[in-house]
Amino acid sequence: GYQRVIKENKDLYNIVQDLKGNIRVYCRIRPIIGTDTRNVIDHIGGDGSLVVVDPLKPHKDARKVFQFNHVFGPTSSQDEVYKETQPLIRSVMDGYNVCIFAYGQTGSGKTHTMCGPSGGSSEDMGINYLALNDLFEISCTRKDIVKYEIQVQMVEIYNEQVRDLLTEDSSTTKLEIRNCTSNGGLSLPDATMHVVKSSMDVLDLMKLGETNRFVSATALNHQSSRSHSVLTVHVHGKDASGNILRSCLHLVDLAGSERVDKSEVTGDRLKEAQYINKSLSCLGDVITALAQKNSHIPYRNSKLTQLLQDSLGGHAKTLMFAHVSPEAHSYGETVSTLKFAQRVSTVELGAAHSNKESREVKELKDQVETLKKALSCKA
Ligand code: ADP
Ligand code: MG
Repeated sequence: GYQRVIKENKDLYNIVQDLKGNIRVYCRIRPIIGTDTRNVIDHIGGDGSLVVVDPLKPHKDARKVFQFNHVFGPTSSQDEVYKETQPLIRSVMDGYNVCIFAYGQTGSGKTHTMCGPSGGSSEDMGINYLALNDLFEISCTRKDIVKYEIQVQMVEIYNEQVRDLLTEDSSTTKLEIRNCTSNGGLSLPDATMHVVKSSMDVLDLMKLGETNRFVSATALNHQSSRSHSVLTVHVHGKDASGNILRSCLHLVDLAGSERVDKSEVTGDRLKEAQYINKSLSCLGDVITALAQKNSHIPYRNSKLTQLLQDSLGGHAKTLMFAHVSPEAHSYGETVSTLKFAQRVSTVELGAAHSNKESREVKELKDQVETLKKALSCKA
């Protein structure tokens, strides 16, 4: 029975997902907040296209066009975002490894997407919570076929050091990354592992993680948005015939991608900025190398990519949310985020569909020519 459930699901996923490749990029634009009401978003296409316009040069050639797998506009709800993410998350229960990243400058909505509004109502919960709830639901539905166990770890990476966020003394313990995960080991054997059985368990742990992230940031004298936080969900399943399934889901709230003005920051802030810059560009390099199917993937260049190594590439699925702020004063960062996201995306710039169509049309035309020639030879 279990094999069938998995097979049916796999067929469905394969059809939908292999069409698009293993790397997907979604863009999310948050609503305008505050007094700057000049909006740089010119057009959001239902096909994943996005046009932004330079607020200082609002004529036609100042428009920049981007193409992603999907664009969520400022009125998109958490549920709409989750719906587009759900098949990926559900595939974790079938043994796929999945990585979801939130990328963007500080204040662009990364934490809103992953966690929800701070101290917010349960209706606005983010992907972390909705995903775990979904996994519980599947586990429940399949309980006669597979016994699942779901466990979580949560760490942060600050200045290339990994800290446990689900322990009492989070700011003191630095963790080592092991790269033995392909033979069933854990990449962070020393980070505390918590079994979760209900949404209440998840809420409690998320709260602890958030508090620790804040406490550790204060202790180390930085803003919590300057660290990457990684929530890892480990799924272990066993069916009646003893078949074992292991997979994991990484949910990553990345450090703010904003460039800092080198002339203005010095000392610790500069060091911090350089670490963030390096790890984000390493992440970009890894995803780009995967998208281009290169033989060498530079995982070892940062703690983040090292940690996620077994869930990036291979049969693993990757989704990046590129978050942007729509206000004119954020235009520079917005374009920089969109360019980064475009670089790691496997979607071709411009009209991806029509490119594909024109290739198909060309092939058909070639076929017609060949057939015509064959006919004229016969005549
Ligand atoms: P980041 O984590 O990227 O620094 P936040 O998630 O903290 O950004 O978002 C910054 C502010 O914008 C917060 O007050 C948040 O509640 C609000 N916000 C972000 N995205 C949305 C959204 N899609 N809808 C409504 N408010 C949002
Ligand atoms: Mg944040």
